[in-house]
Amino acid sequence: MTTELLFRNDAYLTSATATVAAVSERGIELDQTLFYPMGGGQVGDSGVLWNAGGERIEIIDTRKGETADRVVHVPAPGSPAIQVGAPVRMEIDWQRRHKLMRLHTALHLMSCVITAPVTGGNIVPDKARLDFDIELNLLNAEHITRETNALIARAVATETVWISDAELDAQPDLVKTMSVQPPRGAGRVRLLRIPGIDLQPCGGTHVANIAEIGGIRVLRIRSEGKHNKRVEIALTESG
Ligand SMILES: [Zn+2]
Repeated sequence: MTTELLFRNDAYLTSATATVAAVSERGIELDQTLFYPMGGGQVGDSGVLWNAGGERIEIIDTRKGETADRVVHVPAPGSPAIQVGAPVRMEIDWQRRHKLMRLHTALHLMSCVITAPVTGGNIVPDKARLDFDIELNLLNAEHITRETNALIARAVATETVWISDAELDAQPDLVKTMSVQPPRGAGRVRLLRIPGIDLQPCGGTHVANIAEIGGIRVLRIRSEGKHNKRVEIALTESG
């Protein structure tokens, strides 16, 4: 069994119907979902499921299941029980998700401003960070804020591109232009292209146009170890 990941094709879908595929101590699995499971440094989505009787099941977190293509929706304690095979309507907390999408896409841009290997990252609704393998004194908050906002001001549309391992092998130049080496062996790889700015493998949720980010500011820069210099950012408009 796998969960169809609706957010992969359209990160802007906020509600849809589904059928309960499994229920366990960990939570509820559906045949398809809008909920992004925690991964790639991004927190899992929250939202609501409604059963056929209109009862509300609050979803407080979303995690990957036993395999990466299964998704477990974590209900709030004390939620109404739900049976396998039952139809549900789902709705994600869109305000929260859209902030995550804006911050996530902003990190793609920031990784083009700071040209050093990325060694970690995290995205929560009110802030996001990347760790770089770089000397601390090469990181300047004003410079990073200004240059990232200059990229945001280009207001280009993002593109999701699927490419097969064979196509990748046939285009070594494409890999060279990527800021992160794509994973091999899964058959195909999902890429995010920000035309003229960035191309890298990513399975996450992004804004359709980088103008939606609005603007960012660097909250702080600090050392988290020899290979981890951490740059933390926030959106300038939380709307
Ligand atoms: Zn991404």
